[in-house]
Amino acid sequence: MDFNDSSEEAAFRAEARAWLEKTLTHQNVRNAVRIDGPEGLKIAKAYQTKKVEAGYAGLTWKKEVGGRELAPIFSVIFGQEEAKFQAPTGPFAIGLGMCIPTVIAFHSADRIKRYVGPALRGEEIWCQLFSEPSAGSDVAGLKTRAVRDGDDWVINGQKVWTSGAHYSDYGILLARTNPEKEKHKGLTMFVLNMKAPGVDVRPIHQMAGGSNFNEVYFNDVRIPDAERLGEVGNGWNVALVTLMNERLAVGGSSGPEYAEILELARNTPAPGGKGSLLQDQAFREKLASWYVSAEGYTLGKYRTMTALSKGQTPGPESSIGKILNANRMQDLANAAIEAEDHFGIIADPAIAPMQAAFQNAYMWAPGLRIAGGTDEILRNIIAERVLGLPQDVRVDKGVAYKDLPGGR
Ligand SMILES: Cc1cc2nc3c(=O)[nH]c(=O)nc-3n(C[C@H](O)[C@H](O)[C@H](O)COP(=O)(O)OP(=O)(O)OC[C@H]3O[C@@H](n4cnc5c(N)ncnc54)[C@H](O)[C@@H]3O)c2cc1C
Repeated sequence: MDFNDSSEEAAFRAEARAWLEKTLTHQNVRNAVRIDGPEGLKIAKAYQTKKVEAGYAGLTWKKEVGGRELAPIFSVIFGQEEAKFQAPTGPFAIGLGMCIPTVIAFHSADRIKRYVGPALRGEEIWCQLFSEPSAGSDVAGLKTRAVRDGDDWVINGQKVWTSGAHYSDYGILLARTNPEKEKHKGLTMFVLNMKAPGVDVRPIHQMAGGSNFNEVYFNDVRIPDAERLGEVGNGWNVALVTLMNERLAVGGSSGPEYAEILELARNTPAPGGKGSLLQDQAFREKLASWYVSAEGYTLGKYRTMTALSKGQTPGPESSIGKILNANRMQDLANAAIEAEDHFGIIADPAIAPMQAAFQNAYMWAPGLRIAGGTDEILRNIIAERVLGLPQDVRVDKGVAYKDLPGGR
């Protein structure tokens, strides 16, 4: 395991940091992460355009699609620096992190040319249409049907939790094309124009106040066969490419961490009024446990980075990082809000302690424990693929989808 940047990596990090310092100075740009709706989107799109002009977009992609063909480690380094500046990258995370890499891997040359440039420049936004009301963890059990009709496929069904669908131009859609086959084998992936007739997007109101994800209904939506990604019936393998990218992308923490809770503890009076929370024995024990967990994650991340730096593919152990981070964030935010006492209920960043960082984290952490694989699903992955324990019971193995309960 290597803890240090190579000289080339260190030079790239310094160059990236200097560019971010210069580019993300205006408070509005950084605040775009907190701004919902068209204003935040406009700011994010403008930032993405600047990133392309400076050569920091599509770092690992081939030059022929507008990338720089750098090793994945450079993309990790840029992402680490970008996170420190609260760069407004949210609306593009799914498109550029998951959908477009899938398009590049499976679409035809002319379609790749059509889609990649506008997505990279932030002109068009993409979403991921996989989960359904009864198919989240078990996404291969999805019901949305695609039936061939001449040169088109006709889509009927419903997706849910589709992040960004309300402002997306395109999406990648996983649908069932053959219910006679086993559930994983009868699926096909398509590119869907979100403005096509019959696509009905309904935002879901969230507890934190925003509406970032949606229900999406399909009523006789037509997709040309030329927009199919991969072979008919090979959708599961196409989806695995998307999901592999998703787990890597979701693994990092994007909220307040050990340093922030330490600062809060230093500036918060202990219960009973003697000194700060730093002198409180119970809180000190919590601090120690968060420190160990955060350090464990950081060291694990070095292992992933070393693999990337050597051109290897990181293994399923990145699931460990996601479980650790999401649970620590929830625990830490909960304790911080309690420590803030009556200020803990203020969610307005202008007046809440530490710009309401813990209040935001408190609302976001439960979602982080679900998105990109729930805690339980990731624990199954760790048990089976990291620890080599026996497989979870799979009663649907070898059974045609139509013969499963609810499969008709
Ligand atoms: C913030 C956020 C953004 C999202 N964005 C998108 C998106 O853009 N596109 C998209 O397609 N989806 C998206 N999702 C949906 C996400 O992929 C699913 O919510 C997730 O896969 C879980 O599925 P589910 O909600 O149907 O829960 P279920 O799968 O029904 O799980 C319910 C509970 O049962 C447990 N469980 C299920 N199966 C097992 C098992 N085999 N063993 C043990 N326990 C099990 C789960 O861990 C969970 O606790 C998003 C979700 C969130 C929270």
